[in-house]
Amino acid sequence: MHDIKSMHPEEIAAYFLSFGEPAYKAKQVFRWLSRGVRSFDEMTDISVKLREKLKQDCFLSAPGIKRKQISQQDGTIKYLWELKDGNAIESVFMRYEHGNTVCVSTQVGCGMGCVFCASSEGGLVRNLDASEILDQVIFTQSDTDRTVTNVVLMGIGEPLNNLDNVIRFLALINHKDGLNIGMRHITLSTCGIAERIDKLASYNLQLTLSISLHAPDDATRSLLMPVNKNSGIKKLLEACKRYVQKTGRRISFEYALIKGVNDSEWQAKLLYEEMAGVSGHINLIALNDVKDAEFKPGNVKRFASMLSELGANVTIRRRLGADIDAACGQLRKKLRSPSGKEERKVEP
Ligand code: SAH
Repeated sequence: MHDIKSMHPEEIAAYFLSFGEPAYKAKQVFRWLSRGVRSFDEMTDISVKLREKLKQDCFLSAPGIKRKQISQQDGTIKYLWELKDGNAIESVFMRYEHGNTVCVSTQVGCGMGCVFCASSEGGLVRNLDASEILDQVIFTQSDTDRTVTNVVLMGIGEPLNNLDNVIRFLALINHKDGLNIGMRHITLSTCGIAERIDKLASYNLQLTLSISLHAPDDATRSLLMPVNKNSGIKKLLEACKRYVQKTGRRISFEYALIKGVNDSEWQAKLLYEEMAGVSGHINLIALNDVKDAEFKPGNVKRFASMLSELGANVTIRRRLGADIDAACGQLRKKLRSPSGKEERKVEP
């Protein structure tokens, strides 16, 4: 069975030609796929004969909404989707002044083991196919009836560890006959695997790369993020410099403030020094208190003023959906935990 929603229009065209259908029909089908049809029979301008052939040969992905939470504060919507094999993933829909944004997951679970992150509990289950990443945007769009203009790959999973499917997803979502979302409206967030950043640079995409830095010194960063034990901050920042050189795009560095761990003055100074040679800005956020009491959020404003006094390029990230567990992996985690009757509730 072909996973037709993971196929480029050119690949659909080649497949159609193999049984004598003209290539232009591939464009029609590709357009239907981007609109979120749940069966081939919804493709009303496609002949019954071709629809039957597609049913025989192809799989049409269409996740179910297992749970949906709407923030009363800011209209942020969190979806928990059920995939074909019963696994669950999350996406978040956010409304900003600059447009409607969907935050997508790229893997079921995550193998990176960052100690503060709810996604890492339970480890990596599997990579998502391109269609499964794309569906999160397509079906959020149809469920909200709003056009999605921006996408962030910041949900569950490490996108650079599923790079082939992520690159395929990016080409599909960027396609003019698909959702046509421009690369400059897409942000990819990574925990920072140096060799994989070089690999991403080789595609020379105009997306925004976001590095989850969270500490300026190896001792603290390795404590928080096991990935740091392999490459270290120096190697990571060297890869970032090469990335900027290759793509001409500035990098965004994420830094979640954790009380008594990464929020001291010497760390602000070191962060400023480390960043000096890299073209990018620092985006601060208070730690989302997802894991039991071990880590507490630090003072973002205090750290921000220390950095800006030094002359660093720093912003504070707005938090949306705080009342609906909108941070990474929290909903899926809830579902997996043995407690709580609420967990089987489906809305709507
Ligand atoms: N694996 C990728 C993308 C998923 S995580 C990455 O590491 O970047 C998305 C962002 O949320 C990352 O910056 C991550 O470090 C951050 N994050 C995870 N748990 C968090 C928490 N409890 N509080 C604040 N930020 C968190």
